[in-house]
Amino acid sequence: MQQIKWLWSIMDKKFHRKHIAALCISVITSIMLLINPTLTAAIVDQVIVAQNPDPLLPLLFTMLVFKLLREGLRYLMVITLEKCSQNTVYNLRVRLFTRLQHQDMRFFDRNRTGDLMTRLSADTDWCRHFLSYIDYVVVDSITMFLSTSVYLFFVNWKLALALVAVTPLLTIITKFYSGHVRPLFVEMRDKLSEMNAAAQENIAGNHVVKAFAREEREKEAFDERSRNFRDAHLRINKLWLTFYPFIEILAHAMTLITIFFGAYLIINDEMTAGALSIFVNLSWALSVPMRNMGNMLNDVQRFITSANKVMQVDMSRPAIRDKENAPEREKPKGKIEFRNVSFAYDKQEVLSDISFVAQPGQTIAVMGSTGSGKTTLIQLLARFYDVNQGQILVDDCDVKDWRLKDLRGGIGTAIQDVFLFSDTVEGNVAFGAQDLTFDEVRDFARRAAADDFVMKMPEGYDTIIGERGVGLSGGQRQRIALARALAVRPGILIMDDTTSAVDMETEQYIQQQLRELPYECTKLIIAQRISSVKDADQILILQNGRITERGTHEELLKQKGYYYETYCLQNGIEMEVEG
Ligand code: ADP
Repeated sequence: MQQIKWLWSIMDKKFHRKHIAALCISVITSIMLLINPTLTAAIVDQVIVAQNPDPLLPLLFTMLVFKLLREGLRYLMVITLEKCSQNTVYNLRVRLFTRLQHQDMRFFDRNRTGDLMTRLSADTDWCRHFLSYIDYVVVDSITMFLSTSVYLFFVNWKLALALVAVTPLLTIITKFYSGHVRPLFVEMRDKLSEMNAAAQENIAGNHVVKAFAREEREKEAFDERSRNFRDAHLRINKLWLTFYPFIEILAHAMTLITIFFGAYLIINDEMTAGALSIFVNLSWALSVPMRNMGNMLNDVQRFITSANKVMQVDMSRPAIRDKENAPEREKPKGKIEFRNVSFAYDKQEVLSDISFVAQPGQTIAVMGSTGSGKTTLIQLLARFYDVNQGQILVDDCDVKDWRLKDLRGGIGTAIQDVFLFSDTVEGNVAFGAQDLTFDEVRDFARRAAADDFVMKMPEGYDTIIGERGVGLSGGQRQRIALARALAVRPGILIMDDTTSAVDMETEQYIQQQLRELPYECTKLIIAQRISSVKDADQILILQNGRITERGTHEELLKQKGYYYETYCLQNGIEMEVEG
């Protein structure tokens, strides 16, 4: 089974042998179950029927020794399997996390967070459960059933044959059951993922839910998903209950066969009373595996469904990755060139024939209405997506020839929709540059106009800010994000609407600071305010994915196009209408 092979490859080599040893113990201890019924038979024949008490004590003592030995071995087995499984699932989690970290944006566009979280938690746990429990229960059951059958054949082949005759029926029933239950498990797993995704999105977007007073509607939507999950569960239980009576009837049939056919054989002197006691004592060793069959099948199916989901993440490789033998490079100096770049997320083209050059140290500003493709432009520069046509060069080298680590490590990005980690302010500022001293962290915060308000916080830079920066205003979050981007001393600094939520005065202060950075960098600024872009060396106006105007502030004003209109609107100037 490929799922087991895959899980085996994730287990540390040193645990391979231990795991096999534990399963061997499972085989041995299952066979050991035959010993005590055999000794009981000896007591019946040699002590009770022969009316001789002498062998009783030695036989009882041997029984006790075997019982203790078996329990000791079982303990060892369970502990070993637990260690193997915990260790393997630890490896698996680290591996999945690393895979997710390296996935490209398209992967995250396609997969919902809640579904990925389900794969990292519940699905991964089923892999652990398989290694620590399901596999030995299967080995136990098969060994118990086979060894008991063979042993009973030696004791009395006729009675054994009568008992084993019911097993083909059992095989038919279980095959039928497993064929029907598999799609139900896949369905249940999907419903679980939908429910988790809904919960995750509602928790993350709770303020939006509240702002739109959508609590009731969202609760209903969650209720529905929760109901779907419950119903999927119930469908499996219902199916199991349809099959369960047949399996129970077969198990009981075995007891009846033992008593009636066994008594018949004793009356005809074809079997001793001791031998019958072996059958009575061991018929459960045939019926228990049969009864367990349904649960085992459920567990195995559940494991397969979950393992498939985890394997998908483990096997998926990002389309955007380093070229083989891509050389290591220094931090970018900051030359950016777009050559006839076109790009589409799906079919619809979002950027068409974009060309521009930024020399190291220059400031390029991009303006345009919402949806015109500004954010896409910078995502292409950091190679979050690959262009469909044309070429993007950084320091005269195609971004595809850069190692992603060097390229992205050399670009500092501060975007409008700020994501901060639940960490201290200092930890957040130094996120991309862990070796910063406290003074340096403070210096960058000061340049981003964040120092003042951070110092007013109860524990200053040691204040823990909540998930996504809860507890800070929009403008404060933007300023911390800017400090974080400045702190990596990037060769290219990208600011996507970074100062949209700060007041004019602070914005001017930040612009002044950006001109006086202690290192040289090319700045790519996306903004809606004329005040944010007017000092740029080149301003690009993007409309419907095309550059429609370009030039400096003065040049663009003369062109009397989109830029001029925006300028007049924002400054309350009446537009000169030509003609
Ligand atoms: P802007 O930053 O100028 O507001 P964007 O670059 O964010 O514009 O978006 C440009 C277009 O691309 C929009 O029509 C938007 O719907 C689409 N778009 C943005 N991101 C994605 C994505 N991940 N998948 C599909 N379409 C996208």
